[in-house]
Amino acid sequence: MTRTLSTDIGGRMSLTQRILIAMGLGLILGALLQWIALPQEHFVNAFVLNGVIDAGGKIFITLLKMLVVPLVFVSLVCGAASLGDTGSVGRLGGKTIGLYLLTTAIAVSMAMLIALTTDPGLGGESVNQIQPATAYEPKTAPSVKDTLINVVPGNPIAAMADGKMLQVILFALLFGLALSKAGTSGQKLRSFFTDLNEVMMRLITMIIALTPIGVFCLMTQLGATLGLAEIAKVAMYFATIVIALLAHAALVYPLLLKSLTGLSPLAFLAKMREPLLVAFSTSSSGATLPVTLRTVEHKLGVPNNVASFAVPLGATINMDGTAIMQGVATVFIAQFYGIDLGLTALLTVVLTATLASIGTAAVPGVGLITLTLVLDQVGLPVEGIALIIGVARLLDMLRTAVNVTGDATVATVVASSENQLDRDVFNAPDQQAAA
Ligand code: ASP
Repeated sequence: MTRTLSTDIGGRMSLTQRILIAMGLGLILGALLQWIALPQEHFVNAFVLNGVIDAGGKIFITLLKMLVVPLVFVSLVCGAASLGDTGSVGRLGGKTIGLYLLTTAIAVSMAMLIALTTDPGLGGESVNQIQPATAYEPKTAPSVKDTLINVVPGNPIAAMADGKMLQVILFALLFGLALSKAGTSGQKLRSFFTDLNEVMMRLITMIIALTPIGVFCLMTQLGATLGLAEIAKVAMYFATIVIALLAHAALVYPLLLKSLTGLSPLAFLAKMREPLLVAFSTSSSGATLPVTLRTVEHKLGVPNNVASFAVPLGATINMDGTAIMQGVATVFIAQFYGIDLGLTALLTVVLTATLASIGTAAVPGVGLITLTLVLDQVGLPVEGIALIIGVARLLDMLRTAVNVTGDATVATVVASSENQLDRDVFNAPDQQAAA
C-alpha cells in the first residue's frame, strides 16, 4: 500500500494497476484515432487498429476461452468428488440455483421500477430523432421440456467440443460423483484430477499475466469506435441502466452478502477487481470465468467443491446485468411506441427476463438477442431494438461486470451457508502481486 509509483514502475506494479493503466492508455489512443479520423485504408487503421490491435484483443479473449472447457471439467470433477463424499450435492444445487433466480428476478423488477420513474422512452426530441430501421426476428422460447432434455449430453465429447456448458457441467458433476464412489480406482483417478487442477490453475495465472496487453487492445478498439453522439440520443435510457446496474452491484449484492454472511462487501468488491476489469473489457462472463473462478477460490475463500459448481453454473445461467438491461429496454421501447404496459405485462417481463437470462450465452451481445424473446412475450415491436443498438456495446461491458459479480456473490453466500467459507482467506490482505 505504501509503495510509491516510482518503485512500482520499477517492475513491481500490481496486476490491477497494470490493467488500469493499460485500459486508460488504450482508451486515450483509441479516442485519439477516432478524433483524427484517418481514412479506412490508412495504414494506421489497416495494420494497427484493424490489424495488430484487433488480433491482440481477439487472441486474449480466445486464450481465456481456451481454458474454459478443460478448467470447468477438471475443477468440477474435483469439486463433485468431494460433494459425493458429503452427499450435499442436492442441497447445494438447490440453494445455488434458487439464489441465482432470486437475484435475477430482483434485478429485473428493480430495473423496471427505476425505468418507470425515469421514463427513458419519453425523452422528447432526441429520442424521436432515432428511426427504428433494422428488421429483427423475435427469437422463439424453447419449451421447458426441450430445455431440460438439452441439459443432458448425448455425447459428452461433442458437448465439450461445442462448448455447451450446461451439458459439460452435468457430465462433470456425474463423473465426479461416480469417482467418489468408485473405491480404490476412484481414489487413484481423483489424485490425478487434483494434480490436473493445480496445473490448470497455473495455466490461468500465466494467461492472466497477459491481461494488460489484451485489455489495452480491447480498450483501444472501444475508444476508436465509441459513438458519444449515439449515447447522447438515448442518454436517459443509458443513464437508467447505469443507475440500475450500480444499485444492484452496490446495494443488492452488498446487502445480501452482509445479511447472509456478515462479511464486508467492500473487502469483497476490492478482491473482485480483476474479474470485474476482465469482464468489462471482454464483455463475456464466459471468457472471464477462469479469472472469476481463481479469484473466488483463492481470494474469497470459497472451497473448490462449491466454487467449481456455482461459478461455471452462474456464468452460464445467472445474468442479472443482462436482465436489468432487458427490463429497462422493455419499458423504453414501450414508452417510445406509446404502448401501455399493464401489471400483467410487467410481471411477464420479470418472468421472461429471468428465464431468458438462463438462456443467454455468456458471450458479448447475446443479451440483446434474448431481449427479442422478452419483447415478443409482451407484444412489443422487436424492431425497437434498433433504437438502442448504438449504445449496446458499452452497456454490454458494464452489465457483464455485474453478471460476474452476481456469480461470485452467490458462490460466497452458498459457501458461507454451508460453513465452508474460509474466512481467513476472505479477510487476508490481497496477495494479487503473486499473479
Ligand atoms: N455479455 C454478457 C455476458 O457475457 C451477456 C449479454 O448480456 O449479452 O455476461
